[in-house]
Amino acid sequence: MKKIFLMLAVTIFITLVTASALASTYLANTKSGIFHYSDCRTIKYPNAAHFVPYESRQACIDDGYRPCQKCEP
Ligand SMILES: [Zn+2]
Repeated sequence: MKKIFLMLAVTIFITLVTASALASTYLANTKSGIFHYSDCRTIKYPNAAHFVPYESRQACIDDGYRPCQKCEP
């Protein structure tokens, strides 16, 4: 019985870590000069070559990107 609880706890932990990692990531579009939340609905192909991942909003702005008007990062 203990094993099941442990596995459940580990699964929840991994899910939370993954979710927060995604939520804190921004994607900058080098073609448009606009940055988005990584889950913005306007991004159809987040793995495309012209998207650059950023860890912070300020880093995007420092590099000259403007925030998306849809997801408002
Ligand atoms: Zn967006």
